[in-house]
Amino acid sequence: MFVICGCYSALEQGGEHNYTRFFSALCKLNYIKVAKNTETRSHIEDMSYPPPSRLARTSNTITGDESPSMEWDGTSDTCCNDNLEVPSQKAPTLESGDSDLDNDQDGMFQEDAESILSESGTETIKGYENVILREGEAITPPRQQSPPEERKPEETFRIHPDGKISEEEVREAMLEFVKAHCCYGSRPAKQMTITTILNVCALHYQLETFTETRSVSQDHEPLYTNSVDGPRNGVAPSPWQIDVEPDELFSNHTKSIEVPHTSTVRGCHICQSTGSVMCAYCNGTGQVLCILCGGTGMYTVGYTDTDGSYKTRLQMCYSCAASGRKICLSCGGSGKITCGTCEGRRRLRWYIRLTAQFENELSDYILQKTDLPDECIRDVGGVTVFEQTLPFVWPISCHPETEINENSLRIFNHHQNSWQDRRKLQQRQRLRAVPVNEANYTWKDVSTKFWVYGNERKVYSPDYPHQCCCGCTVL
Ligand SMILES: [Zn+2]
Ligand SMILES: [Zn+2]
Ligand SMILES: [Zn+2]
Repeated sequence: MFVICGCYSALEQGGEHNYTRFFSALCKLNYIKVAKNTETRSHIEDMSYPPPSRLARTSNTITGDESPSMEWDGTSDTCCNDNLEVPSQKAPTLESGDSDLDNDQDGMFQEDAESILSESGTETIKGYENVILREGEAITPPRQQSPPEERKPEETFRIHPDGKISEEEVREAMLEFVKAHCCYGSRPAKQMTITTILNVCALHYQLETFTETRSVSQDHEPLYTNSVDGPRNGVAPSPWQIDVEPDELFSNHTKSIEVPHTSTVRGCHICQSTGSVMCAYCNGTGQVLCILCGGTGMYTVGYTDTDGSYKTRLQMCYSCAASGRKICLSCGGSGKITCGTCEGRRRLRWYIRLTAQFENELSDYILQKTDLPDECIRDVGGVTVFEQTLPFVWPISCHPETEINENSLRIFNHHQNSWQDRRKLQQRQRLRAVPVNEANYTWKDVSTKFWVYGNERKVYSPDYPHQCCCGCTVL
C-alpha cells in the first residue's frame, strides 16, 4: 500500500485544474480513494484489497457512549469530494437496482478482477471502522442509572406455615432415607426414641442480575444476490442502538444478528477473486503419481518359465500408459478447485455481525440456625415469601431478621458494582422459607440427632448408627 500525504496542499498551489486532472487520472487507474472529510482529504491511499491481516489489525474501540447521532456521509464512492470534477466510479456496494450481476452469463462474474478489487475491499462502515475479523471485544454499554429511591415498591412478606411435622412423620422420613441407602440397617430408625423435635425455618435469599454483553465482528458469505443492504440505505445503528430481545429472561444464551446497512461487496481474498484455488491434492499440477507403478511407468510381474522356474519381468504400466502419472481426480486435471470461501462466486458480501451474550448472575444467602449445613437448603423446596422482578430491585430492608436485610444489601451492592462492561437488563430477588425439623433421638447407647428439611422432607443424618448392615466398610 502506498500513501501519498500532502499532495492536496501541493496541488492546491497549482490551481483547481491541475488538482482535478491529477485525481481524475488516479481514479481512472482505480487505485485511489479520497476521503470526503476535509480534514483528511489530502490522504490518498492505495485501495488494493487488503490482506486478511489488515482486517484483523486493531482492537475494537467502539463504546456505547458514542453519540447516537453519528452520521454516515453517504458518499462511499471513490473520489467523493463534491468539489472535484472526477469520473464517476463503480460503487463497491451493490444497492438495489444495481445491474452489475445481471450481466453474469455463466454464474461467474465477468468483470475484470482489478475493477472488483479497486476499492470495495477497503470500504468502511461509519462507527465500525476498527471492527476485527472474528471475535470482537465487548463494547461498553451506555451508562445506566438506578431508579430514584421514592419509587421503591412496598415490601410485604407472605405469611408461611412453619412446616412443623409430627414424630410419626419424622420417623417415616428417616425410614425412607434408610431405604434409599442399601447398606443402612432399618432397626435404629424403627426402634429409636425421638426425644424432641425442634422446628425452625431457614431463609434463603437470592438475587439474580440478568446481563447482556455486546460485541461486533466482521463476517462474510459468498455473494449470491444482486443487492445488499449497504451504507447507502442508511446510517448503520451503533451496537447498543439495535434491538436484540433475549429469548428468555434469567437464562444464559447468545444471539447473533447482522447490523443493518453494513454490507459491502468485496473480491474474495482467498482466491484473489478468481473463484478457484490451487488443488491441494496435486499441488496444482493436475496430476498425481500412479499408485500401481509408483511413478516409474513400469511394474514387475512374475511368471513361470517353460522350464518350470519362477521368473519376473518388467512390464509397462497399463494404468498410467507408462507415464507414471495420472490425472488428479480431485480437480479433474485442472490443478484448481472451486474456492470454498466464495463458493466460486469470486466476490463476498462482508457485513458487521452483532453478538449479544446474555448471562445470569446469581448470588444467595442462607440463614439457618441449626447445625444442618446451610448448602442443604439451597436445592430443596420451600415457600416463596417475597419475590420482586424489576429492571433494578431495591434491597430488602424491612424483614424482621436483620441478617436478611444486611445480606440483601451486601449482595445488592456487589451486583451493582460488578459487570460494568455489561448492560443489566433485569433483576430478580426472592426470599424463600424452608422448613427444617431437628429430631433428637436415642437408640441403645447412642444419643444424637438428624434433620428433616425442605418440602420434600429430605433427611440429613451423618451419624446414623447402623450405616452398614453386612459388615462392609462404608466410605
Ligand atoms: Zn503407472
Ligand atoms: Zn488436483
Ligand atoms: Zn474465493
